[in-house]
Amino acid sequence: MQGQMQDRPLLISSLIDFAERFHGDGEIVSRRVEGDIHRYTYADAAVRARQVANALDRLDLAAGSRVGTLAWNGYRHFELYYGVSGSGRILHTINPRLHPEQVAWIINHAEDEALCFDLTFLPIIKAIHAACRRVRQWVILCDRDAVPADTGIPGLLSYEDWIAGEATSYDWPDLDEDSAACLCYTSGTTGNPKGVLYSHRSSVLHAYAAAMPDVMCLSARDSVLPVVPMFHVNAWGIPYTAAATGCKLVFPGPALDGKSVYELMEAEKVTFAAGVPTVWQMLLGHMQQHGLRFSTLNRTVIGGSACPPAMISAFKDTYGVTVLHAWGMTEMSPLGTLCTLKNKHLALPPEEQLKILCTQGRPVFGVDMKIVDDAGHALPHDGVAQGELLVRGPWIVREYFKGEGGDPLIDGWFPTGDVATIDADGYLHITDRSKDVIKSGGEWISSIDVENIAMAHPAVAMAACLGMRHPKWDERPVIVVVKKPDAELTREQLLAFFLGKLSKWQIPDDVIFVDAIPLGATGKMQKIKLREQLAGYTLPGL
Ligand code: ADP
Repeated sequence: MQGQMQDRPLLISSLIDFAERFHGDGEIVSRRVEGDIHRYTYADAAVRARQVANALDRLDLAAGSRVGTLAWNGYRHFELYYGVSGSGRILHTINPRLHPEQVAWIINHAEDEALCFDLTFLPIIKAIHAACRRVRQWVILCDRDAVPADTGIPGLLSYEDWIAGEATSYDWPDLDEDSAACLCYTSGTTGNPKGVLYSHRSSVLHAYAAAMPDVMCLSARDSVLPVVPMFHVNAWGIPYTAAATGCKLVFPGPALDGKSVYELMEAEKVTFAAGVPTVWQMLLGHMQQHGLRFSTLNRTVIGGSACPPAMISAFKDTYGVTVLHAWGMTEMSPLGTLCTLKNKHLALPPEEQLKILCTQGRPVFGVDMKIVDDAGHALPHDGVAQGELLVRGPWIVREYFKGEGGDPLIDGWFPTGDVATIDADGYLHITDRSKDVIKSGGEWISSIDVENIAMAHPAVAMAACLGMRHPKWDERPVIVVVKKPDAELTREQLLAFFLGKLSKWQIPDDVIFVDAIPLGATGKMQKIKLREQLAGYTLPGL
């Protein structure tokens, strides 16, 4: 027997319709590339998203055509999120921090037919536009007056001109909820970028899930600042969840330095923020230097790479801000797990609670996960056994765009490439990426554990642990360290700092001081590049 409930598709257009009708006066504040602050409401955004849809119809872009964006977090990008996907085209967000050649490669691979970009990225577009032969319309996200003369880009339109004459009404099509809505390429930390094609259904389900209390717990009373870019897995879904909850949205534009982010947070009474650890490093550095405090921020999601425990403590103890440590992937839209305590943990002493809060947290309802050994056998969820992490669920990739790389699934499960333990309550602890685990004398050393300890040293600004070839032990760990400005730290002092915190054999054999550790396009440490920079290095005593 069938259920007898209505069958309404889950569509991205319904999110903006909802926000317009029930949170029409909800504010969206953006720092623009032009430098000023722009303010308007969900109702205004909905009107302009419909104008975008009409402008795309005028271009005669078929359903399913790709529209690329190369843009910071801002209101025009938000309008494109809804105008493009809502009208049945596919929004393709591109990471502008990639090398221009890679940007061109991705535009061509995605077969983008229109491309909208911020003024900041004009030099990139100037360099690559001739190589992007499928793009029929280039749109620069500013007023006509702000478009520089003689860009050399044929037919370039300013965004404001592009949508200005368009009707403000539009009938969003009744799409199949499984049709494609957005395309996002993996950042390629582990190889060539591959496209992940989200559907309307997967994005809307993810938006519901992200709002849940033990996930982001967003509400109409929040003021939300995604520092995580709208080109990094759709700012972790916040533009969708925001419309579903009616929270105030605060977009930081291109100004991601500690001072700018702090000032925007204070001015706009931000209660909730989200970003990768390296961004918060800059913010905390600025606040420490100037003795600043938050007046309204009470929680922040940190993910994308392991959040060092020292950062979680600093937020909590010094600033009264709860860190929600999250784990996910481009292939997972991206939310997989997020860390909050359970009732039974509330009576634990603070050190015990901290231990739990440093894990990557429990699965969000909708995400199923398991760990397996080398032979693919499921391992127990006892918090001890570690193995490769596999996931499945309605917002997890089934196959990559254009079938790239073949069938990625193993019996219906997606292998994440991460190594983890899971405890009886479902708390996930990521030990490492499988390729970063250090194998020493048949035992595994977690590079994340070693880095977290180094990061707790007051003189350390950033730390990366690498396994170096060793004739007897296979590999031995070394720690590569960037010191804080003006801090004093010797090799011996840092090695002594590990004593008692790790088993002796897990302590790095050497400390390498460097001026900077290379960061990838999403702010993660690039160990492959770092390794290249250290070519020729030999372990002490060899
Ligand atoms: P890419 O895989 O191209 O770097 P993603 O942004 O999709 O791009 O990265 C996903 C990976 O990032 C995960 O598989 C995991 O290795 C790492 N990661 C994400 N969040 C965390 C976290 N909280 N702790 C440890 N690793 C994390």
